[in-house]
Amino acid sequence: MTKDKNLRPRTKLVHAGRHPFEQHGFINTPIYRGSTVLFPTYADLLARNARFSYGTVGTPTTEALETAWSEIAGAEGTVLAPSGLAAIALALLTVAKSGDHILVTDSVYRPTRNFCDTILQRLGVETTYYDPLIGAGIESLIRPNTRAIFLESPGSQSLEFQDVPAIVAVAQAKEIPTILDNTWATPLFFPSHAHGIDLAVEAGTKYLSGHSDLLLGLVSANATWFKRLRATFDAFAMCAGPEDIFLALRGLRTLELRLREAERQGLAIAEWLVKRPEVAQVLHPALPTCPGHAIWKRDFRGASGLFSLYLNPCSQEALAAFLDGLRLFGMGYSWGGYESLVVPFDCRTYRTATQFDPPGPALRFSIGLEDPQDLIADLEAAFARLKARN
Ligand SMILES: *Cc1c(COP(=O)(O)O)cnc(C)c1O
Repeated sequence: MTKDKNLRPRTKLVHAGRHPFEQHGFINTPIYRGSTVLFPTYADLLARNARFSYGTVGTPTTEALETAWSEIAGAEGTVLAPSGLAAIALALLTVAKSGDHILVTDSVYRPTRNFCDTILQRLGVETTYYDPLIGAGIESLIRPNTRAIFLESPGSQSLEFQDVPAIVAVAQAKEIPTILDNTWATPLFFPSHAHGIDLAVEAGTKYLSGHSDLLLGLVSANATWFKRLRATFDAFAMCAGPEDIFLALRGLRTLELRLREAERQGLAIAEWLVKRPEVAQVLHPALPTCPGHAIWKRDFRGASGLFSLYLNPCSQEALAAFLDGLRLFGMGYSWGGYESLVVPFDCRTYRTATQFDPPGPALRFSIGLEDPQDLIADLEAAFARLKARN
């Protein structure tokens, strides 16, 4: 409604992208469905004189989320894609062309790696994976044809926090665009464009949804890159569904509240886990024992509810006993919903630039909105089962 740069993030989340008096006074922009948009006259048609001209180009529903997100992310503009992975593909295809070389963090979301290794490779774009902790050392990997540096901080399984300012400084000096998968932090906990990132990707499927009931991706860009991003989006017409956008707009209004609660709950569980004898290490950045702690403290405004841990060595049977009897934690992919999840992971099978050598089985937790005492009781029983089988 109001576009005031001085408003604080929480106020922006409530007001951004809404125009009630364009919707008969109703608070929320409704779901516009549609392909055809009518032009009142021949002259208007010839001049494409209309705020919206065709369904793929946008509707008031898409525009509401695009403008709200740009405001919150501090971006020149945003495009919406039907999934987080589709958003990553759009960002990469905005910057890279045949004959180019790109640098991608070894901690990257695995389907992003698959996109680079298959589609981009087929299009003649070569990918080099780099150590996520490389920092300014990235300079040594830059070639004359390097056209993008892709970051993901933290890695959504192994939780390495990258030195974004150091990497951005090198990229800017060499005029190489940077793309950041910012899904873990969202712009609320890491304002990526303010840190000099050119294109930022958010899987709206996670915290923006918050309810595990939609798939959505967002790519925001600064003034240097938005025109090209928008042109790439228009060329694909890779549109998100109106229902999903509407639900994401609903999620947006409570995003800060839910993130702060996820942070509080996640940290409570992490602090309890640290004291367990079965646990070798907890990778939660707010814990001083977490390798990413210093960078997180320097650059981030909060921690979401996604973190990982390494168990001490145990048998497969003991791990199965731990996981299979859980009553409150679900086992499944994705995260950021109101319900708590746990999944085992093993980066050893696909990393190429770095050695991943955990002391024991690795687990990733997404902490939801249940009472933490109940979650702790569920985990306590799980550790008892693990111990009985080991
Ligand atoms: C889930 C996820 C994505 C992809 O989102 P989808 O909507 O599931 O395609 C991208 N990056 C990260 C870090 C994710 O966790």
